[in-house]
Amino acid sequence: MSQHQNNLNPDSEAHLNGPLFQNALTTFDEAAKIINCDPNVAARLRKPRRSLTVSIPVRMDDYSVKVFTGYRVQYNSTLGPYKGGIRFHQNVDLPEVVGLAALMTFKNSVLGLPLGGAKGGVCVDPTRLSRTEKQNLTRRYTSEISAFVGPTKDIPAPDVGTDPQTMAWFMDTYSQEQGGYAQPGVVTGKPVEIGGSLGRNHATGLGVIYVCERAMEVNQMQMAGARIAIQGFGNVGSFAAKFAHERGARVVAVSDVTGGIFNGDGLNIPEVIEHVKQNKGVKGFPGSQTMTNEELLEVECDALLPCALEGQIDTHNAERIKAKIIIEGANGPVTNLATKILVANGKFIAPDTIANGGGVIVSYFEWVQDIMSFFWEEADVDAKLKGIILKAFDNVYKFKLEKNIDMRTAAMAASISRLEKAMLLRGLYPR
Ligand code: GLU
Repeated sequence: MSQHQNNLNPDSEAHLNGPLFQNALTTFDEAAKIINCDPNVAARLRKPRRSLTVSIPVRMDDYSVKVFTGYRVQYNSTLGPYKGGIRFHQNVDLPEVVGLAALMTFKNSVLGLPLGGAKGGVCVDPTRLSRTEKQNLTRRYTSEISAFVGPTKDIPAPDVGTDPQTMAWFMDTYSQEQGGYAQPGVVTGKPVEIGGSLGRNHATGLGVIYVCERAMEVNQMQMAGARIAIQGFGNVGSFAAKFAHERGARVVAVSDVTGGIFNGDGLNIPEVIEHVKQNKGVKGFPGSQTMTNEELLEVECDALLPCALEGQIDTHNAERIKAKIIIEGANGPVTNLATKILVANGKFIAPDTIANGGGVIVSYFEWVQDIMSFFWEEADVDAKLKGIILKAFDNVYKFKLEKNIDMRTAAMAASISRLEKAMLLRGLYPR
């Protein structure tokens, strides 16, 4: 048998063996079975289309050159241009980016967006870079992947460790390389002054709260007075906390890399946000009890919102989760096996592909506004976001009840089903 035959060299598939991707594939296989997915379509959907690895030499402030490693994985483009964020974090590697790119594909499909799925990342701790070093890194990463991105090809956005300023540098570098013509549509999550959308910065957190309210409604609960715990106080967690607080919820615990804070009567979230600005973390917030990130997940509460990183709730702590509902603000925070334990214990999970979809939904609006060069009011953006995210939730919830399955499997089934129809219509090239 030839060395070149499929799957003979295990190293050639090492990038497919990460825990995040394997988890997604387990859910994928369960959902594909429920909808009797065409086996040829399923085989294609189980692998990314393109996985790009680049080296990024960066001039540091001390004039030395450090070479970082970056990735862009384009998972699937059946439904439209590739779309997904860029993560700067010290744990980024190719297997993680493959998993995140797969989740973007299933997210964009279940949300009904005309977009494919991709993800990028650089293995770097951005908190250890100066502003200049971060700019140099962003610009050279952009340049290294620029042949593969563009307003009609692949449109990046912010993720963990990147923000509107990072997107501005990305947009500028790409535009300069395309002859100096402004190309706002190459990236979303930009500052509004250069073609960003009103409402994009708070969109993921707002979407999490829209989904949380609807999940509470179907579970005969209500937001006002509910006890909420939030892991992660970055772009997603801090806005989710703000919107929950404004709706009368008691946000009893929040956490970030500096640890967790707890107050059983509810934290004053505007003051926590101010404290974070001054102190670079939630730690030491006056009138709060200190707890670890691990303890926060197990806190007595009505709703738990994991809004940090993947793999936070797995078989080691799933039994100890007390929240009645879990809303996944992060990508992949609860593993497939933990989902089974939680569901058996009567918990309700709103899966990441819907719950944190607010970010990419408003990214889609930003991209549309850039193409039209016609910009919308913030109230319009928020209302359209609510319409799309709740429609996806309601469709999936209906399917979950019909089939008596959990929300994660139902969301994956709806997602695969849309992709399957589109893939069969487009056919295989060459046939
Ligand atoms: N990084 C976000 C996500 O994981 C947003 C992606 C986008 O807006 O393209 O969904």
